[in-house]
Amino acid sequence: MRSLVLSDIHGNLEALTAVLAAAGSYDALWNLGDLVGYGPSPNEVMDVMRPLATVTVRGNHDRVCSGQGSTRHFNPTARAAAKWTMETLTEEHLALLRELPKGPLEPERKSEDETPVLLSHGSPLHEDHYVQNMRDAWAPLQQMSTTISFVGHTHVQGGFAQRGHDWNEVRPRYEAREGSVEWTLILEPDMRYLINPGSVGQPRDFDWRAAFAIYDSVTHQVTYHRVPYDMATTQERMKQAKLPRRLILRLSEGR
Ligand code: ZN
Repeated sequence: MRSLVLSDIHGNLEALTAVLAAAGSYDALWNLGDLVGYGPSPNEVMDVMRPLATVTVRGNHDRVCSGQGSTRHFNPTARAAAKWTMETLTEEHLALLRELPKGPLEPERKSEDETPVLLSHGSPLHEDHYVQNMRDAWAPLQQMSTTISFVGHTHVQGGFAQRGHDWNEVRPRYEAREGSVEWTLILEPDMRYLINPGSVGQPRDFDWRAAFAIYDSVTHQVTYHRVPYDMATTQERMKQAKLPRRLILRLSEGR
């Protein structure tokens, strides 16, 4: 089974469009949350994703932008964007966001032979925890109920792998800084993994290109991808929506 794994789309329709065009065919689409917040097209993104997503886990921005939880932990630019998003979302979309389930979720498997996996926005142990380094990865890798979890939230593509005392950070090694690229990780049967597909709509790993991953449960491979998208249009829309300048600039910087 081929699963397209997306996270942190953040209302960026142009990035999502480029990702879906590059992804090819898939059997399931797993969305790790943060559909909205920051970007200028929250309603459009939700309309595109609704019929496509097999499973959607809620993200912290999905929660806050639909009025569940305060913006207390948000910095001023994130807070301004959340306010704009909440005012812009239709009643129907607000209701849908409020209904999104909390992670971790275990998606249905096609057969008993398939390895069970978990989907979560932040850590599989807590939806709001960031897994940014080995230290953060330690507890979830030990304690999660499956050997593989897909996580988002950090907007950094890659992940963490562990077998006993053997630990390593996974970072895709792309051949080019431009154009569309991919890099495949072969999952070893006796290792445990936290896999982050990266952010579709607001990457923070110094690469502005939209990020996603495809997980093949038959060949036990994760293929990481980066694709360029029409960022000029996204930034123009953000300008028109009067979203904070800092958020417009960070798209070009990939941070
Ligand atoms: Zn996010």
